[in-house]
Amino acid sequence: QRRRLVVGNWKMNGTREDNTRLLQGILGGWTALESVDVAICPAFVHIPQVAESLKGSQLHWGGQSTNPHEAGAYTGEVSAAMLADLGCRYVIIGHNERRRLRGETDDYVAEQFLAVQRAGLVPILCVGETIEQRESGQALATIGAQLDVVRNAAGLEAFEHAVVAYEPIWAVGTGKTATPDEAEQVHAYIREQFGELGRQLTILYGGSVKSHNAAELFQLQDIDGALLGGASLEANEFLAICRHAE
Ligand code: 13P
Repeated sequence: QRRRLVVGNWKMNGTREDNTRLLQGILGGWTALESVDVAICPAFVHIPQVAESLKGSQLHWGGQSTNPHEAGAYTGEVSAAMLADLGCRYVIIGHNERRRLRGETDDYVAEQFLAVQRAGLVPILCVGETIEQRESGQALATIGAQLDVVRNAAGLEAFEHAVVAYEPIWAVGTGKTATPDEAEQVHAYIREQFGELGRQLTILYGGSVKSHNAAELFQLQDIDGALLGGASLEANEFLAICRHAE
């Protein structure tokens, strides 16, 4: 039986004051969950604040990206060891916004994956297709190729300590979600790529997940939780989705 996982990706949002309010809302409304792990991934500069607030709670925290190098002359970058030092458990890598805006390639994402694991943290590897790729019947091939590069670099066993997140790019921040059938098809395909090991792999769905559509997605056999953007910035939405995952 796989545990569920709900991760809030705060992206580039919030002041410390906003965060205080949001964290108070989440912790104030929190009810113990047995089968769900929950994490919040704020901007790097807000990790210490989030860590301080969440320590001693059931919630974990993580980073939204990392530089793959150990240390050195990489101005403006943050290493996985630094994230580990701040008590992070997870690091999102390969998010489509970074692939697109920062030119992160599959090879670079594979290096990040290795660096995150070297630091003892759990990578949340994001994969997903564009609308053009979906409409031309290339969705599964695109996702398969994204996974292949990382699996070839890290080895199959590395996925015993990793999470995969399927985020169809056309569903991120657009209000469009993949239909349950579309999502389930991709999740089942991802699981298949890992053979036996796939059975224990946690696979999240991301892209306009809200409290009103989460339950339906979580019912599907191969969906183990969600990677939330917008919905993680509202305490009640976030809490409701975490409860749906239980
Ligand atoms: P939205 O939930 O805002 O669509 O964002 C999804 C996402 O990109 C999470 O990483």
